[in-house]
Amino acid sequence: GSRAEASGKIVLDLQRMQGVPAEEAAPLIRYAQSIQRQRGDYGNKVLSIRGEDLRALALMFDTSLESLTEKLVSWGVLAPGSIGHPGD
Ligand code: C2E
Ligand code: C2E
Ligand code: C2E
Repeated sequence: GSRAEASGKIVLDLQRMQGVPAEEAAPLIRYAQSIQRQRGDYGNKVLSIRGEDLRALALMFDTSLESLTEKLVSWGVLAPGSIGHPGD
């Protein structure tokens, strides 16, 4: 169904998130921080986000899912276990 299509596991490496280009990556940083806030989930090294959140992020970046994933890869913020992780 639609849930399976929307799903594509994205695991963000929160440590590496601190090294992304601040201005360009601002929407990603804000989004991840608000998910942490909503979950009350602090002190972890990684943050798994919903596949559908990646879709929402692509809209915010005014780009496609594919291009956004490439951006995340180039910023080095995808932790092992993510789709598109270079080591997979
Ligand atoms: P919600 O979407 O109604 O989810 C309620 C609770 O269901 C979550 O509380 C969590 O305990 C559980 N849950 C939801 N999705 C998953 C999942 O993929 N895996 C597991 N193991 N449990 C899940 P939690 O985590 O305290 O989140 C509270 C609310 O914060 C959520 O209510 C949602 O509105 C928002 N939220 C949290 N994380 C995300 C996220 O990654 N994306 C979005 N869009 N909203 C999120
Ligand atoms: P997904 O929706 O793409 O979520 C990917 C991962 O983000 C989840 O992996 C979980 O680690 C995290 N996540 C998403 N939303 C929340 C949240 O509200 N709170 C917390 N704490 N974590 C969240 P997970 O749990 O292994 O789930 C894998 C996939 O299984 C999900 O992908 C979703 O497609 C499906 N799924 C799991 N539980 C439910 C559910 O209760 N209802 C529905 N409709 N789908 C579910
Ligand atoms: P729950 O785990 O208490 O989750 C309640 C609601 O939180 C879900 O209602 C859904 O709206 C949201 N949610 C939970 N996990 C996820 C997720 O991974 N991604 C997103 N985007 N939202 C999530 P929903 O879908 O009607 O599911 C009702 C209940 O059915 C869930 O209660 C859970 O007990 C079970 N369930 C449904 N799908 C799955 C699944 O894929 N895996 C598991 N383990 N349980 C599921």
